[in-house]
Amino acid sequence: MKRFYSVLVGLALLQLSVAQTKPVIDAKANTSIKRPKLVVGIVVDQMRWDFLYRYYSRYSNNGFKRLIGSGFSCENTFIPYTPTVTAAGHTCIYTGSVPAIHGIVGNDWHDKTLQKKVYCSEDNNVSTVGNEGVSGKQSPKNLLVTTIGDEIRLATNFKSKVIGVALKDRGSILPAGHSANAAYWYDVTSGNWITSTYYMNSLPKWVSDFNAKKLVNGYYEQGWNTLYPMDTYTQSSTDENEYENKPYGADQTRFPYNFKQFEGKNYQMIATSPYGNTMTLEMAKDALDNEQLGKGSETDMLCVSLSSTDYVGHNFGPNSIETEDTYLRLDKDLGAFFNYLDEKIGVGQYTIFLSADHGVAHVPGFMKDNKLPGGVISEASLIKDMNAKLKGLFLLDKTVSGILNYQIHLNHAAIDSANADEKAITAWIIKYVQQNDAVSQVFALKDLAVTPLNAKLKDMLTNGYYPNRSGDIQIVLKPGYIEAYGSGKSGTTHGLWNPYDAHIPCLFYGWGIKQGHTNRETYMTDIAATMTALLHVQMPSGCVGKVVEEALK
Ligand SMILES: [Zn+2]
Repeated sequence: MKRFYSVLVGLALLQLSVAQTKPVIDAKANTSIKRPKLVVGIVVDQMRWDFLYRYYSRYSNNGFKRLIGSGFSCENTFIPYTPTVTAAGHTCIYTGSVPAIHGIVGNDWHDKTLQKKVYCSEDNNVSTVGNEGVSGKQSPKNLLVTTIGDEIRLATNFKSKVIGVALKDRGSILPAGHSANAAYWYDVTSGNWITSTYYMNSLPKWVSDFNAKKLVNGYYEQGWNTLYPMDTYTQSSTDENEYENKPYGADQTRFPYNFKQFEGKNYQMIATSPYGNTMTLEMAKDALDNEQLGKGSETDMLCVSLSSTDYVGHNFGPNSIETEDTYLRLDKDLGAFFNYLDEKIGVGQYTIFLSADHGVAHVPGFMKDNKLPGGVISEASLIKDMNAKLKGLFLLDKTVSGILNYQIHLNHAAIDSANADEKAITAWIIKYVQQNDAVSQVFALKDLAVTPLNAKLKDMLTNGYYPNRSGDIQIVLKPGYIEAYGSGKSGTTHGLWNPYDAHIPCLFYGWGIKQGHTNRETYMTDIAATMTALLHVQMPSGCVGKVVEEALK
């Protein structure tokens, strides 16, 4: 009896556990998956994380502060690879993947199979749409994985629309992905927004109409003066200083900058002014309206990249009034853009993510003058020196074919045909470059796994290494050191592992997003993982990121 009783209890417990593991039927199971009407991805080119707070007190309530205050901020988001450059950064954000997998190892690389230099989005099989030139011979064909937009399109059987807009071709093409409906970029020779036959055979009427307005001339007419009185720019060095390039001509060294001379002649200069971002957001608004984004049955996506912050940053550096003013103006432009989204799509009906493709180093001269570590290396003269010496030692011409993305590329064709000793050449180069004052470490990339390196740096270099597109010998510069930008005394650049290059903003806002922040270490690769989780669509095909669980409702 006792035994029978315990069997009964056992059965009851079993039943209970079955009942507990049985899937709960969702009362709303017949309703479709909930998604926002529109996803807007915004990449601010060269925006360091600290720029959110450096200018915080001067931002409006509606731009960056709206995203920080009402959205979710991942305060410690890092780029998990080197080189930290535009093409790799845009690709990582939208694919959740790293160059070792997605293949976009730089803006340019040397392809070992093709034995030539390749631009990230070049495609000689397509033609320009929107003018006569070659600047439209571009597509995402070198990108080896899918993007968030591709996955949204796949998940909705291509009913979703995905469009990219940026001044830079690579800032538009790589984010929008392979199956995008369109990617538009700015052609500096004609001042037109163009695309390629990869996407379409003629420009939509609304793009031709936008081009006909030639907004660029209106911006040139205004010129560039500071938004607020000069003496309120207390975050930055004095207006005129030796750390700044003179992009508008040698006679223009301080505010107000006169752009009238460029009207009808130079369509490029707008990129190196805050108006490049203003014009891009105008183009984005027109795309939104005319393509009826967010008005269909499925979630649409708009990928916007703001490139002018990069051009201004390279020329004037992070401690300049020009950079400060560019961010204050961008903040206002973003505020107006967010208001436009409220009006057209509806408050709470869209989701935004905002990040950056990379940061930037301070101008090395500025660092030195302030007793901080930093300096430059000239890659051009390093190559010249090495090739002259290697000619004497190994009787070879142009042994080093180039330095790209801080990696030395050997001229394998010349070395092989002369039957020269590649091992000895590599060892000589490593010893020679190691003596340079700017250099922290040099090693053959094939020895990466056995080279004693800081673990974080080793991880980042491994994530950036795609053998057929990467170089042979890696140069790691000392912190604060950069490849000389222009004369070497003024201007600055990015591309290395250091936090000033690799610590970026990462903000989520709107539909499905909680208010809050985390100081947990997160990565650029987590953006695509989080967005696809929010949308209930498959992760992009090379995604290695993790969902930022805290950000999602
Ligand atoms: Zn740049």
